[in-house]
Parts: sequence; C-alpha cells; structure tokens
Amino acid sequence: MVDFTNIKQAFSDKSNKDLNRAFVLFKTISNPKISSILTSLVKLALLFRLPISYFIKNTIYKHFCGGETIDDSKKTINKLWKSSIGTILDYSAEGKKSEDDFNKVLKETLQVIKESENNKRIPFIVFKATGLIQFSVLEKLNTNKKLNNIDQNKFNGFLDKISIICNAAKESNTPVLIDAEESWIQDAIDNIVLNLMRAYNKEHVMIYNTLQFYRVDRIKYLNKLLEISREENFKLGLKLVRGAYHQQEIERAKQRKYPIPVHLKKEMTDRDFNLSLEICIDNINRVSICSGTHNEESSAFLLELMKEKEIENNDKRICSSQLLGMSDNISYNLSAENYNVSKYVPYGPIREVIPYLIRRAEENKSISGQMSRELKSIVKEKNRRKNN
Ligand SMILES: Cc1cc2nc3c(=O)[nH]c(=O)nc-3n(C[C@H](O)[C@H](O)[C@H](O)COP(=O)(O)OP(=O)(O)OC[C@H]3O[C@@H](n4cnc5c(N)ncnc54)[C@H](O)[C@@H]3O)c2cc1C
Repeated sequence: MVDFTNIKQAFSDKSNKDLNRAFVLFKTISNPKISSILTSLVKLALLFRLPISYFIKNTIYKHFCGGETIDDSKKTINKLWKSSIGTILDYSAEGKKSEDDFNKVLKETLQVIKESENNKRIPFIVFKATGLIQFSVLEKLNTNKKLNNIDQNKFNGFLDKISIICNAAKESNTPVLIDAEESWIQDAIDNIVLNLMRAYNKEHVMIYNTLQFYRVDRIKYLNKLLEISREENFKLGLKLVRGAYHQQEIERAKQRKYPIPVHLKKEMTDRDFNLSLEICIDNINRVSICSGTHNEESSAFLLELMKEKEIENNDKRICSSQLLGMSDNISYNLSAENYNVSKYVPYGPIREVIPYLIRRAEENKSISGQMSRELKSIVKEKNRRKNN
C-alpha cells in the first residue's frame, strides 16, 4: 500500500528555501485572525486598485499558481512531470459577465488544448460553465424558465463555444473535465454535459462531468447515469469530488426555504464519496474516473478497490488529482508507485486569481487551534531535514 506519511517523497522536489517559504505562508494563513485581516486588506486593495500584486505574486500566488500565462506555467509543468505528475491547466477567471471575458476564456482554453497535443505533461483540460456564460442564464435554465431572445442568443453562443472546445480537444485527443458548481445551476450543466458524453464518449472517454458527493442526491444520479449509458451505449467520464460550496448551499436553502441539498454531517459526505468510488470501480468498463480529493482515507480506499479488482496501478481509466500546493503527500507518493496523478494548476493575471487564493487561505485556517493538514506536513519535513 502507498504510504501517505512518506513526507520525504512528498517534498522531494522542494528546496529548503521552498519549504521555508511554504512554512511562513501556511503559518500566516492558518492563524484565523491574521488570515481574516489579510483577506479583508486584499479585498480592499482590489476595490481601490492598490498595487498589491508584487506582494501576492511572491507569496501565496507563487505557492498555489503556475504563473500569469501558459508559458509562465511551463516551469511548474516540467517540475511536476519530473515526478511523473501531469498538469491540468486551469485558467482562473471567476464571476465573469461580459462577452469579451467569455471569449478570452474560450481563447485560453483553446490555447491549452493546443499545448496538450502529443504532450503527456497535460493529460486533461478543464473549464467551468460560468467561465463561458452568465450565471443568471444558467440559473434560469435550471428552473426550466423560458429564455427571452437575448438570453437564448447568449445560450446559443455558449453551446457554440463548448462545441468548439470539445471538437478541438477531440482533435488533439485530450479529455475535457467540466467542473461542478452551485446546485442551483448544476442541473443545467448536467444536462449539457450528458449530451456531450452521448456525442463524444462513444468509443473512449473524452468528456468528464463532475459529481459532488456532499449532495444528498448524487449517488442516485450516478446510478441513473450508469443506466442511461448502458441503455444508450456510451461511456461515462466522471470527476468525483466532495464539493466546494457547502456553506453557500446551506445558507441559500435556509433563506429560500427549500430542503437543504447537501449532507449536514461530514461522515455522510465521506460515505457517499467512498460509495461512488466503489460503484465506479465495479463498473470500470463503463466509467473512467478522476478522483479529485485531498482526503487520505478516500485516496487509500481507491487503491484498495483497484487491488481487489486486480486493476493495474496505471490503468488509463483511473486518475487521482489534487490542487497545486496542496496534499503533495498524496500526489507524490501515488505517482512514485506508478498511479496516474495530475495537479490542477491555476494560472492567470494575479488580480483574476485572487478569489481562488482567498478560498485556499480560508481552507487552510486552523480549526480550534489545530495545525492545518498542510502546515503539519511542512513542519514534519522541516524537522526531518534538520535531524538528518
Ligand atoms: C482536483 C480537484 C478538482 C476539484 N473540482 C471541483 C469541482 O469541479 N467542483 C467542486 O465543487 N469542487 C471541486 N473540488 C473541491 C472539492 O469539492 C473539495 O471541496 C475539496 O477537495 C475538499 O474535499 P476533500 O475531498 O479533499 O476532503 P476533505 O478535506 O476530507 O473534505 C472536505 C469536504 O467535505 C465536505 N464537508 C465539510 N464539512 C461537511 C459537513 N459538515 N457535512 C457534510 N459535508 C461536509 C465539503 O465538501 C468539504 O469541501 C476539486 C478538488 C480537487 C482536488
């Protein structure tokens, strides 16, 4: 079995300088008070367009992002590949509203596809639906509201963009991951991606939808997808995650007085995530998966299931993925044992990436005075190096 506590392996490509920088970063963001103050300052600086880029670029951005452009990110891509870890370049543009912004995302995504051609270093490409269309249009579609002419045009433009991306990805033979978002737009996304899977996943898997197992209905949806794919004879591609919008899901449901769509106990999310792994591995001839998690137990459980079914470590249908700068103990130890591993590597102009960075900071805040998972690993490795 893979030893996720092998910290030496996890930090094998980090110099002492890298490690010290990561230590100062995680020590700072893990302090809830300092982290909140810094987050508020950054938001204010953004609002008043203050020059904070230099500071962010050399601290949190350097740790969690590839660079401002694809070319800037090549250093990170090559470094990861030295440890046989692939890169999923994620152009960070969130909450965009204008057609110019959506065209920019389309252009970047096509550029990444071009870069991925015959390039093992970039095994997948990824996009978010809300990077290509206004959130509000997806929200209307989700409630089956009839779109007015303006929205219908926007929606047609969105479908065109998706089709351009999927055709280009097919040409360069790079599978496409489509991220999952808030439940109140997700049905609309699911329906579109299901149709893409019907069209592109006939022989092998090109399109992956994302299922969030904090949602109470996702095991049922997974079983339904399996049934449809069996009946209509196409393959499923699924990125399995726990889900990133837990608090927002609860708050909105309470405000609008509809049943909360997510589990309220962490154990229930863990149970459904692991159950999804079991269901997918049982149906591995029909489903390809990307297990997107920083959870060691789930990562180890996937390996157990693969062993039980005598599936090879580097079976093309199974991949694990973590975010750049997080859970290197999982990524590096898995790849050392020949499992398929990729890191999400966000890139883009610093100001655009700030919402992503704020989420990373919030995720790594210490809870009830305990060291965060990342900080614990860094401290352990610093001590190991000191004693050697
Ligand atoms: C490669 C990759 C791709 C991703 N893509 C997406 C994506 O497309 N869409 C998306 O939404 N997220 C995505 N995520 C984020 C993911 O959904 C999780 O938020 C994040 O990975 C933390 O979960 P974990 O599995 O690593 O494990 P853990 O740290 O063990 O679990 C934390 C998660 O458990 C759940 N949780 C926390 N508290 C509770 C509670 N009280 N009750 C029930 N559940 C709870 C939440 O989902 C929380 O994020 C991605 C993550 C990775 C690594």
